[in-house]
Amino acid sequence: MNISRLARAIAESPTFALNEEARILRERGEPVINMSIGEPKNKTPITAILSSATKLSGGDIKYTPPDGTPSLKKAILRYTEENYNKVAAPENIIVSAGAKQSIFNILYSIINPQDEVIILAPHWVSYPEMVKMVYGIPVIVTPEDGTFHPRMEDIERAVSSYTKAIIVNSPNNPSGEVFSSEFISQIVDFCERKKIFLIMDDIYHKLVFDGAVWEPAYKYTNVDIENTMVIVVNGVAKLYGMTGFRIGWVVSNRKLVEVMTNVQAQTTSCTSALLQAAAEGALNGMQSVVENLRLTFQNNRLVVVEELKTFKGVRLIPPKGTFYALPDFRAYLPSSLAEDSVELSKLILKKALVVTVPGKEFGMEGHLRLSYAGSIKDIKEGIERIKWVLDPTSPNEIYIGDRKLVRDWL
Ligand code: PMP
Repeated sequence: MNISRLARAIAESPTFALNEEARILRERGEPVINMSIGEPKNKTPITAILSSATKLSGGDIKYTPPDGTPSLKKAILRYTEENYNKVAAPENIIVSAGAKQSIFNILYSIINPQDEVIILAPHWVSYPEMVKMVYGIPVIVTPEDGTFHPRMEDIERAVSSYTKAIIVNSPNNPSGEVFSSEFISQIVDFCERKKIFLIMDDIYHKLVFDGAVWEPAYKYTNVDIENTMVIVVNGVAKLYGMTGFRIGWVVSNRKLVEVMTNVQAQTTSCTSALLQAAAEGALNGMQSVVENLRLTFQNNRLVVVEELKTFKGVRLIPPKGTFYALPDFRAYLPSSLAEDSVELSKLILKKALVVTVPGKEFGMEGHLRLSYAGSIKDIKEGIERIKWVLDPTSPNEIYIGDRKLVRDWL
């Protein structure tokens, strides 16, 4: 088949593939625990439901302006003012089908073939693939072993005359790390000086725990919104648990927004009017929804940390935000059980029906990403099952569903 070289080079999204695998297993009646899932379990905020229901029952669902409805943009401007202390204009905002499309549109609009984009490992699975999709070159910068926090000197060393942008995601998927204010201030300063775009993927920005502080990049620049290199990405998926609504946005200078609007107008036309109404409802509604999710994840995180503490050999840097943890399983990798994180993840799924995401997908071999967006019961049982697969000191019999299983491989 004549598939293009570029399209062929794009990897499958491992997280979507794993979710699908979990769904199929569950449909077959298997007692699977999905710790790969990247979405909160809450019901859609009522204000989002009402707002989109009103729109729907009006029966007038048409194209919207390609960059978003004026009323959603107004809500985003208010959000930006409240959370970023930044006054922007409607011309600085473009709404897209999720933060994912927002990031793709940015890259499509700024990258020339062979331009380099610096990505900080551990990184979201889609960044390198998206960079490749626009003929750019992803340059991965890895932190010092045993930490998930990037170092400025490593980033500076990776910068070349081709560097066009750096993507920063804090709170971070997959590690849960929240980058220090000092780091944010340094990287903002660096990018402004070097004229490198700084793409801030802030999709988890309110999901921080126990006093960890997220600060907007805008805080550390004196350059006005039309000239700053800072580009902000956000959306309703994670903070409001509205992953299925597919609404994200970009705050940037007018020129870039104009270009992205052309790109969007020629590809998707606009985001669905109905879903934009829902996002507007969420942004204008009660923000206790977000705080409730944050508290749930903070509580769940405690359980993950405590459960993993009892797991000999596993090292965990406790997450400071998001709903992911990225424990280091390298102590188990040299064994005959598994050669790498992909094998390890497969083994855990096969033996114990727990879905995890291999660290390899995030540029962090030897680790597994565990989502704690699920129930406490699933988190506890999931880790218990993983322990049963790997840890010879754990009891060698376990009940999975109504089946009693005996470990005979350790
Ligand atoms: N950035 C990061 C770091 C993410 O984890 C995700 C979702 N997994 C996105 C962006 C995309 O969010 P959305 O669902 O709004 O496209």
